[in-house]
Amino acid sequence: MKITDIGPLMAPVNRLPGVGPGRAERLSVLLTRPSAAETRVFDLLAHRPVTTIDRRHITTVAAAPDKAPATLAVKVIRHEGKRSPRAPSVVTAADDTGEMTILYFRGSPQWIAASYPIGAWVRVSGITERRGERVQMPHPDVSAVIEDPTDAPDDPRFGLAPVYPLTQGITPGVLSTLMTAALERVPVLDEWHDPAYAARAAFPPFRDALTALHIPQEPDDLAPHAVHRRRLAADELLASQLALAIVRDRERTGRGIARRWDTTDIDRLAASLPFALTPAQRMAISEISADLAAPHRMTRLVQGDVGSGKTMVAVFAAAMVAGAGGQTAIMAPTDLVARQHFATLSATLEPAGIPVRLLTGKLSDADRNAALTDIASGNAKVAVGTHALFQSSVEFADLGLVVVDEQHRFGVHQRMALTEKGAASDLLVMTATPIPRTLVLAQYGDMDVSRITDKPAGRQDVDTRAIPLTQIGKVVERLASAIETGEKAYWVCPLVEESETLDVEAATSRHAALTASLGPSVGLITGRTLAPERERIMSAFRDGTLKVLVATTVIEVGVDVPDATIMVIEHAERFGLAQLHQLRGRVGRGASASRCLLLYKSPLRPIAKKRLDTMRATNDGFRIAEDDLALRGEGELLGTRQSGLPTFRFADPLTHADLMQAMSDDARLIVTRDRDLTSPRGKALRALLTLFERRKAIERLRSG
Ligand code: ADP
Ligand code: MG
Repeated sequence: MKITDIGPLMAPVNRLPGVGPGRAERLSVLLTRPSAAETRVFDLLAHRPVTTIDRRHITTVAAAPDKAPATLAVKVIRHEGKRSPRAPSVVTAADDTGEMTILYFRGSPQWIAASYPIGAWVRVSGITERRGERVQMPHPDVSAVIEDPTDAPDDPRFGLAPVYPLTQGITPGVLSTLMTAALERVPVLDEWHDPAYAARAAFPPFRDALTALHIPQEPDDLAPHAVHRRRLAADELLASQLALAIVRDRERTGRGIARRWDTTDIDRLAASLPFALTPAQRMAISEISADLAAPHRMTRLVQGDVGSGKTMVAVFAAAMVAGAGGQTAIMAPTDLVARQHFATLSATLEPAGIPVRLLTGKLSDADRNAALTDIASGNAKVAVGTHALFQSSVEFADLGLVVVDEQHRFGVHQRMALTEKGAASDLLVMTATPIPRTLVLAQYGDMDVSRITDKPAGRQDVDTRAIPLTQIGKVVERLASAIETGEKAYWVCPLVEESETLDVEAATSRHAALTASLGPSVGLITGRTLAPERERIMSAFRDGTLKVLVATTVIEVGVDVPDATIMVIEHAERFGLAQLHQLRGRVGRGASASRCLLLYKSPLRPIAKKRLDTMRATNDGFRIAEDDLALRGEGELLGTRQSGLPTFRFADPLTHADLMQAMSDDARLIVTRDRDLTSPRGKALRALLTLFERRKAIERLRSG
């Protein structure tokens, strides 16, 4: 047995019989590959059936269902060619119980004549339709000539047939033929799993598992808990966890710096704040300080609910790095948040002698050049910005720490690119998404995690109500009296069918209506508002010149105006749970009581009602995340590109949570024992990484 045997799986699909350039192109679309050339035989085999059709049992013409799959054994009586170009070719056939017609809109007369010889018995399987007394089957999925009505063709397509997602130009028949050819090419490979684990889990060999996936014996064979499927899921998870472990191992041990700073500076910074740090903030800061002082690179995730005070943790991390002479880059998800972080960081760090600069895509050329110069010379110790910070034109004198805020907006790949700016940068990722442990593993591998589990003292839960839109008049009345007494409110207008223009229109007309009833203290921010204007409006809202801020979801993430106490969300039924929670998190940030009004349009769909009920019932982000998962299901969750979660082909991080944990543990062990994967098992693992395209990890292995 040789590991190089994965060659046939890595071969492009056009090596399979019957795959020319056109079909290869369509396969690349079906399998969501970048190009036909990069569509491998293994990608085809990773295309999972969604369900099965049982073609093992035959039914009679009399008993054939309407618009449902059926398999029949019938004798061919006659052929009729097309009566018009649009009409089908018709094959009439019968069994003891009656006559049926088999229709072909495509297909040459020669092929039809050869496939349905007059007088012969055929077995056909497909969808039957009943038209009064008549039974017809347009385009059977499968057909075969048989000896006699009881003859069962020795053809796997008449077994329990897998049903695949399809695309134009790839029919079930084509796919089935290709799968058969692909399966024949699967070599016997050395086992890459830990032998004891594989034995305990009763994993079949890789080749058998793939075969069972495409030639299921029972419908249950496709279920996530079927042992074949679990094996393939474990393969995929081991590849992903091992890749993350290798990258992280190189990050940690590659040229990390043991930093030293004056701790009295840090104590002085803490004393300068208008509040005391919470215990969880202090804990996170001390974990970060231990990482920074150690000679390995830090890769740490700070997880804390909205409003838990993550920004302060970044302030301290930046201060420690600056104290040791290094620079910090803080990347915010939006321009708005970058400007706000800049305000917070410069207010706290500049008095301590740590210069802070802002760098976003929306700066004037002069401001941008000044910031670039200070960052390159090392005069600036902290740079705050959006992804503009990581363009190639930005040079740092000594980038020591990269902080990524609200990371779920960025992909994992971008994250990897970031740390490459600094020769030895530590990495801190801050997220408000309270994702469960297994999803943390899927997304971040074995990053260290600091959890901010408490909130600043004196915070109260946000009183949340659901109100039908028909009562909007009353809501505006109450809003008027609230702003009389000095309160501030956000009014959020929803996404309209993903169209930014319509969003802006909705928000603009709401702004006009509210201005008409509340006067000029109503501001408006949308995705179209230009940076200087935005800044002017935000600071007017902050200082109280504006009392009400009408906005689209641009304010969803990170915006911090502590004395805003009212959040109105219009058409709340259109938002997801996580989004509602994020939006609500914009209030309840100070000591005074806050309210959230969810305006909805009746009638509510059941799922929307559940969301609003959850919002009313709890302020706890973790509970909301769990309900969210339950309501959305893993498919949608993992399908959302925005979530930054990797998409798996065999694994489902929720139902295969146990495998995720086991593979993560094993990956860590492998990296400590066989760092460059040179042992015999290590070689099998290299093949696994190649198969699942973990190129970055492989590049980091020493050749062997
Ligand atoms: P998030 O975790 O959502 O990013 P922020 O960092 O924006 O939260 O903090 C929310 C608000 O809480 C800010 O106004 C911040 O100044 C304030 N804050 C942070 N830490 C404390 C603390 N220990 N005590 C009181 N207020 C705090
Ligand atoms: Mg934040």
